[in-house]
Amino acid sequence: MENGAAQPVIVAIDGPAGTGKSSTSKAVAAQLGLSYLDTGAQYRAITWWMVNNGIDIDDPSAIAAVAGKPEIVSGTDPADPTITVDGVDVAGPIRTQEVSAKVSAVSAVPEVRSRITELQRSVAAAAKAGIVVEGRDIGTTVLPDADLKVFLTASAEARAARRSGELKGSDVNATREALIKRDAADSGRKTSPLAKADDAVEVDTTELTLAQVIECVVTLVEEKRAGK
Ligand code: C5P
Repeated sequence: MENGAAQPVIVAIDGPAGTGKSSTSKAVAAQLGLSYLDTGAQYRAITWWMVNNGIDIDDPSAIAAVAGKPEIVSGTDPADPTITVDGVDVAGPIRTQEVSAKVSAVSAVPEVRSRITELQRSVAAAAKAGIVVEGRDIGTTVLPDADLKVFLTASAEARAARRSGELKGSDVNATREALIKRDAADSGRKTSPLAKADDAVEVDTTELTLAQVIECVVTLVEEKRAGK
């Protein structure tokens, strides 16, 4: 495929936590020479900033009032995705349990969503060859005209097992409960909840290896590009 001549391709990959979204999205982007954007990292980054600045997470109006303050910058190389807040590298601190437990409340605030959505659209528009964007509302809200929309699912057991494998030494049951709680909050919020777009291809990854999921998505992108 002549990458240079191809139209930029926009791929939206949504789904709950632990379905393999990040690993799949990065690998697909790398294999196809596309940029990559982890939108969950952006919501985590703004949450980290709120916690660090003593903002009351239980007060949506306090969050809304400062939602425009932090400057969040995402590096989109799939081999080395980066994230900074006001110039500080926060790739590590945004993965703590504290941020994971608070991110759903922060990301439910409409002012936070509109700010981050705008940022996501500008990153996608700047990607010359195209981009793989992963999140919860990419196919439904952020990039409704994406060339390909994929919705990844997996059983709660499989998701908890994968996530506790990543967070070495963590308890599978506690991880499962935390994931279920976060999914319920993300699916139940009023503003652009976690949802499958009507025109998304659903891939249940419960019984698939990561390599199989990557191959499946790469094939879907190539079929789209070939106009099938
Ligand atoms: O993908 P990750 O699990 O890192 O996402 C962290 C959180 O960010 C989600 O639980 C959700 O609250 C929020 N999020 C969102 N919309 C997106 C991506 C993530 O609300 N597009």
